[in-house]
Amino acid sequence: MQYYGNVFRPPSEARSLIVQATVGCSHNSCTFCYMYKDDDFRIRPLEDIKKDLIEMSSYKDYFERIFLADGDALVLKTEDLLEILKTIKEYYPNVNRVSSYATAQDINRKSLEELKTLREAGLEMLYIGFETGDEDLLKEIKKGITYDEYVSAMKKAKEAGFKTSVTIIAGLGGVDGMEKNAVGTAKLISETKPDFLGYLTMRIYKNTPLYADYISGKFKMPDAGEILEEMKIFLENVDSEGTVFRSNHASNYVLLAGNLNEDRETLIKAIEKTLKKKNFRPDVLRGF
Ligand code: SF4
Repeated sequence: MQYYGNVFRPPSEARSLIVQATVGCSHNSCTFCYMYKDDDFRIRPLEDIKKDLIEMSSYKDYFERIFLADGDALVLKTEDLLEILKTIKEYYPNVNRVSSYATAQDINRKSLEELKTLREAGLEMLYIGFETGDEDLLKEIKKGITYDEYVSAMKKAKEAGFKTSVTIIAGLGGVDGMEKNAVGTAKLISETKPDFLGYLTMRIYKNTPLYADYISGKFKMPDAGEILEEMKIFLENVDSEGTVFRSNHASNYVLLAGNLNEDRETLIKAIEKTLKKKNFRPDVLRGF
């Protein structure tokens, strides 16, 4: 089994077999992102991916899920992904979910028919980092995607039958962009209604372009209270019936879990209570 560089996976894939289909992220330009800055993007040879899967199949009974890493395994050619899914079916009969990160660009590049074929072959869940729904902020962070492209990617993914898990980031627009980030993101989530939504909190990493803006004072990092105010604005504006909502990432100042829209008021009250008591999760528990 071969792993190259930094390997990341969503929290819900903690018990999954992680197989690198690519190394790094095909976009790798987002100004806030530290994840794959040390890795030159490449697609691994299909034979190597299959070799890893076959080698690890002696432990097949340990795994119920497989996660195809790295940053966006959906960038692979459809025929190669189908070959990987076929190998998984053959060697891991007990696996009940295969998932991967995907960029909206990857989804939009594939036809609906291709996506449907992948879904039928066993790829079930796509994790997509929206980060924000604010058009200006999407440009600023060099996400390489527009609001409308997110909407069409989600429509296509859903029509093909995929489950979608989306992440957004409170504080991404800094102090000056708090309200715009919250309102724009609420609009995008309301329009796309993902199955799962993870609300993360902005953190600044030294190996990112955003760090220079932070040091120069151009980017003003919101404090804990401001982050929670932003999350509150988001929740007050979002309308995404049926979405499972979580803010239980290491980065968060408050841990929240519920279903939209039914738990929205409870979630807002939990934020208000934390703001009043100022009992934010301490940095030591937030991975600092
Ligand atoms: S945020 Fe996602 S798309 Fe952007 S560089 Fe990082 S891994 Fe790639």
